[in-house]
Amino acid sequence: MMSSPIHLPHCVVGVLGGGQLCRLLVMAARRMNIRTIVWTGGLEAPARGVADEVIDLPFDHPRALDHFCGVATVATVEFENIPLPVLHAVAKQVPLYPSAECVAICQNRWREKEFLRSHGFPCAPFALVSSSEELAAARHLLGPGVLKTADSGYDGHGQIRLREGDDPEMGWRNFDSPRGVFEKWISFAKELSVIVVRDKQGETVCYDPAENQHRDHILEISIVPARIAPSVAESAAAMACRLAESLDYRGTMGVEFFLREDGELLVNEIAPRPHNSGHHTLDACVTSQFEQQLRAVIGLPLGSTRLLSPVAMLNLLGDLWLGNDEPPDWHAVFEDRAACLYLYGKRQAKRRRKMGHVNILGDTADEALRRASSLKARWLEDSSTTEASPPGDCGAGTRPR
Ligand code: ATP
Ligand code: MG
Repeated sequence: MMSSPIHLPHCVVGVLGGGQLCRLLVMAARRMNIRTIVWTGGLEAPARGVADEVIDLPFDHPRALDHFCGVATVATVEFENIPLPVLHAVAKQVPLYPSAECVAICQNRWREKEFLRSHGFPCAPFALVSSSEELAAARHLLGPGVLKTADSGYDGHGQIRLREGDDPEMGWRNFDSPRGVFEKWISFAKELSVIVVRDKQGETVCYDPAENQHRDHILEISIVPARIAPSVAESAAAMACRLAESLDYRGTMGVEFFLREDGELLVNEIAPRPHNSGHHTLDACVTSQFEQQLRAVIGLPLGSTRLLSPVAMLNLLGDLWLGNDEPPDWHAVFEDRAACLYLYGKRQAKRRRKMGHVNILGDTADEALRRASSLKARWLEDSSTTEASPPGDCGAGTRPR
């Protein structure tokens, strides 16, 4: 039987959010001559100049909604913190993948944790808190931990550690949000993530797990393949697939895990979109996580997730930009013949702001990691001899791009 023809140029993919994930998604679309329209929400948009059309208006703008839905034939999200009413309004007019229901779960830690608990996925012991008294009770019950905002969290923004002896009342006073999740502090052996993609028919594919190293709650380096036992890699992949199925998910999704010393895996969080720890797929895998997102959303068959080379992905944070917004010396990257530089074109470098990344292909994960670390060390040396860049705005709920 002949299958129906596939017409790529007839679709226009609408993207809600215009940050670096959108930029990389739109670049993948360009390669296949797929048109895109991006609604930035009024924030600085690295996707500008790459997308076919950009709507630079806030998400509560009614004309923007009509225009976006009039042009897009299918829609997706670039980050989870899109207002829920906008997701529902878009979904009424244009097919939206992942669904508003999936994004709603992942954009709010209360809903996310309840989802994990009710579906039997292991995660760190937690309590939902909305007052100083509730936080004190949770701290008493769970011991040292971390208070995270229920809404609009990303890159560790709005998180407060409560260590042994710290006063919960003070913690609550410093907490810039009416609702939070208090999570027990987990001593883990490693952090892992799995990028999983689920298509229109419900077929699920997974990339090899990434081993992630964070600094100050923000991703610094991802290493693939992760240096873990094959059985752990299999369990993480199986759990990510089960999560995608439980959510009836369509698109690319990132699942973060804590791996404990005894081999137990705990789900940390779910990202309903391509994930920072999947950026290596741009150079080290047959199909990138961004192309998979397009394929899943449009309804095309998924590509292979096969890893072609060990790789280390190094995030370039604004901290590396020297005084006066001056970028680091790229000499070291270009000296390395197997390093691929990505810059997101953000106007201003700020502390903790993700400005770009480098994928470093290696013979082994260890060797790629060594080269990534020495690159970073070289830049840090440079920046310590120059005036440090001013601290950025790291408040909860704001998204410096
Ligand atoms: P991102 O957007 O980078 O995923 P986020 O704001 O959503 O960040 P989390 O993933 O919850 O925040 O936390 C960021 C990092 O902080 C984790 O990857 C981990 O390194 C550390 N962390 C968070 N929660 C815990 C915990 N309960 N125990 C130990 N470390 C934790
Ligand atoms: Mg995280």
